[in-house]
Amino acid sequence: MAGRFPPAWLDELRARSDIVQTISSYVPLKKNGKNYWGLCPFHGEKTASFSVDAEHQLYYCFGCKAGGSVFTFIQEMEHLNFYEAVELLADRAHLPLPEMLDNEDYERRRSQRERLFNANRDAARFFYDTLFSPEGAAALDYLRGRGLSDSVIRKFGLGAAPDKWQALTDHLLAKGYTLQELQQLFLTVVKPPEPATEDSPAKPQRVYDVFRNRVMFPIINQYGNVIAFSGRILEKGGERKYVNTSDTPVFNKRKNVFGANLLKKERHLDRVILVEGNLDVVSLTQFGIRGVCATLGTALTPEQAQLLKRFAPVIYLAYDGDAAGQHAILKGLEIFQSEGIPCRVLDFPAGMDPDDFIRKEGVEGFNALPVLTPEDYRVRRLREEADLSTRDGKVAYARQAISTFGGLDPLERDGFIKDLMVQTGFSRPVIEAQIAAQEAEQRQKEAENAHPNQGAPRAKKVDPLEAVGLEPADGAAATPGGARKPLSEADLKILRAEELLVSLIATGRLPGDLAQEEDFTDQELKNVYLDLKAGVSPSSLIDQAIDGDSRSRLTRLLLSPHADSTDELIAMAQDCISTIRRGGCEKKLKEIMDRLTNCTDEAEKMGLLAEYQALSASLRKL
Ligand SMILES: [Zn+2]
Repeated sequence: MAGRFPPAWLDELRARSDIVQTISSYVPLKKNGKNYWGLCPFHGEKTASFSVDAEHQLYYCFGCKAGGSVFTFIQEMEHLNFYEAVELLADRAHLPLPEMLDNEDYERRRSQRERLFNANRDAARFFYDTLFSPEGAAALDYLRGRGLSDSVIRKFGLGAAPDKWQALTDHLLAKGYTLQELQQLFLTVVKPPEPATEDSPAKPQRVYDVFRNRVMFPIINQYGNVIAFSGRILEKGGERKYVNTSDTPVFNKRKNVFGANLLKKERHLDRVILVEGNLDVVSLTQFGIRGVCATLGTALTPEQAQLLKRFAPVIYLAYDGDAAGQHAILKGLEIFQSEGIPCRVLDFPAGMDPDDFIRKEGVEGFNALPVLTPEDYRVRRLREEADLSTRDGKVAYARQAISTFGGLDPLERDGFIKDLMVQTGFSRPVIEAQIAAQEAEQRQKEAENAHPNQGAPRAKKVDPLEAVGLEPADGAAATPGGARKPLSEADLKILRAEELLVSLIATGRLPGDLAQEEDFTDQELKNVYLDLKAGVSPSSLIDQAIDGDSRSRLTRLLLSPHADSTDELIAMAQDCISTIRRGGCEKKLKEIMDRLTNCTDEAEKMGLLAEYQALSASLRKL
């Protein structure tokens, strides 16, 4: 992706693509206070926590923290990349596409991530080429032995990691990637040199490939980037069956699935089928089943559930028929239901996995599999575990079964009641009385547990302090690798003030010289400050965010703060600046104090003392 759209042209397109109008065509919005509110299209909810800020042309969900500009919204709703989203809006606004610009600054921002994506793509290409070379013969035999055709192997870009220590690393280094980049991507391990010990001589630095002698599955996201790999072992032995990429700057296993690239290509899926293994995805796809994907060696996460929801109205769980699979189904149903996402269970005969099944029964058999609702499935599991030969067993079973009917309407419930009558011998009036009793108990519990403040801020004005303070440590302490270091109370206070200050400056209503670059210790906030000062609009800043987390954080910060007058805004900003400057001073004083206590050199001590006095004096003036 070389070049970029000219900023002035993008501004023109933004001005013609009003965010309130654009979002209204997808989600009904209601004006409340300064902003518009609606039900979030990105997560399941019953009260509106999705807000659209007409002044800054941003949207933000206080529930799932989705946020961004009109371009981000179209990207998310239509599964498009930035360029495609811009083209779509330009087409709707009848604005001709401009000549693209080359821009060094923009390139620099993107280049690090793009280099990482490119390295992954080159690695995938290397594995793919190896598979169809003599070195890949064993892997190819394995895949063909699993019944996979060459065409489906190519469709998924499957590959082979050679049985060598450094083949991939050497290949990628020769292409100009750095060892550090390969380490970041979890492709290469670098072991530092070790000094000699009694038992062994000194060892030099060792460098080797993470994936060796494995069948390789590239994980490609919905935007077509290779983000990670899953490598399956070829030989039976002590090693792990699957090695998966750990989280890297371009991959978070909680937020991705295997097969997302194909989901995106499918139009109008009526369901997404979630399976457990990569091979199940490939195999079902070969048989012509559309919309199949798998989680990446972990249990389903809410983030993955949200991702899948964008591709189809209902998700089918197609896990193995064994005990582990059955347990995973219950967990999965819980996650989908708590996210408000419709789900079903595909019921495989005991002990069969999707791959076994479709090979034996074919597509027709697959399409004829029973589809269970979550309640059907739970009740069936209860029945299988219940002892219906004793009265106690029947009572316990009936109680548990009734507790799963909770969300059902009377028509749906009727079938369950009839089954329960047959299974337990209780009469309909008895069962109905028990339902009423359990529901009353449930309502009582809910009333006791209800937290009045927990609901979404539907009619509530969003207080900027609260909005900014929502999760102040979120973006700030997160490093690109995803590791977090906890902030001290004092640092947190300074960070909060810096965040609020940025949101106040984004109103464009503060005097330009109020804050200074040095007031920002957080690098991302400092960049935003400089961009705002240079006249960049909040919504175009959002479009330059390096990733989703950063975009979410910036959007939250750049929502228009709630203040009635400019005087009020200025007073708030002055408050922030004084908190930041005082906090910075106090921090320095503490550092000097620490050095003083450990200092033995007299001359140095005098210097530190003088510094201490000067700082205390300036602190008093603040
Ligand atoms: Zn949301």
